[in-house]
Amino acid sequence: MKIHHLDLGPARPLGGKLMDGVSPGLLARLTCHCLAVETDAHGVVLVDTGFGLRDTLRPTPRLPAWNLALLRPRFDPERTAIRQLKRLGYAPTDVRHIIMTHLDFDHAGGLVDFPQAEVHLTAAEAEAATNRRSFLDRTRWRPAQWGDTRRWRTTETRLGSRYAGDTLFGLRNVREIGGLPPEFLFVPLPGHTPGHAGVAVKGPRGWLLHAGDTYFNRAEAHGPGVAPPLVAAYEHMMAADLKAQRESLERLRTMLRAPDADIAVFCTHDPVEFVAMSAWSESGYAPVVAANTETATSQAA
Ligand SMILES: [Zn+2]
Repeated sequence: MKIHHLDLGPARPLGGKLMDGVSPGLLARLTCHCLAVETDAHGVVLVDTGFGLRDTLRPTPRLPAWNLALLRPRFDPERTAIRQLKRLGYAPTDVRHIIMTHLDFDHAGGLVDFPQAEVHLTAAEAEAATNRRSFLDRTRWRPAQWGDTRRWRTTETRLGSRYAGDTLFGLRNVREIGGLPPEFLFVPLPGHTPGHAGVAVKGPRGWLLHAGDTYFNRAEAHGPGVAPPLVAAYEHMMAADLKAQRESLERLRTMLRAPDADIAVFCTHDPVEFVAMSAWSESGYAPVVAANTETATSQAA
């Protein structure tokens, strides 16, 4: 197994360090941190898909204009999953499984670029997204991005359901994902959306947890617990259930404080975590090659 960290939706919102906690000047950086996992028996498994080719070529009216104005994504076809995987030597048909933390427009755009992949998501997310009851629901969930939904494979993650979950480093109610080996797990972290879940992957360097949009800034999970004010406002605006989101974040913080939690946790949109995880991952430790030899690693993102 080999894990690539890909930024499939770099954005330059206004706000500098008030948005990302680190950028000097007017502009901040946000990433759309996704994973491409090379496996022996299940092809390439994607965790989230960022913005897809069609998003980059014609963002509106496909995507919500107000969110685009706030986030200011840099739409570049060469940064999409399909193009980055091509540079790694993979065809679209090599992607056989896509695991979604949730279906927001900045995570689901690449689904149509891999029409032959099975799409794994929680049952709660599938139900909420297909019903789209509120204005926020219709803003965040864009069915035009999904392709054929008959390939969706849902996992029941709600507490009280008849399915028993396992525990991972103290995180309860963790679920295996149908059709995939136990190195891939759903970790329910609802709140940002009703069916939002982290995705745990056991790779060559141990467990990692893609926490999706449970938090937006590393300070929330790994620091004092408070996000820079502008990104906190965006999180607040997009939370389906703020209380549930805070409880999910607190579960992560509790786990991270445990001395035996040997698991690397990161979110989607924090640029510092993206750099750190790219270095931490196996690809970040690839052998040094001749100075002017181009390599297609996650650094190509
Ligand atoms: Zn997001």
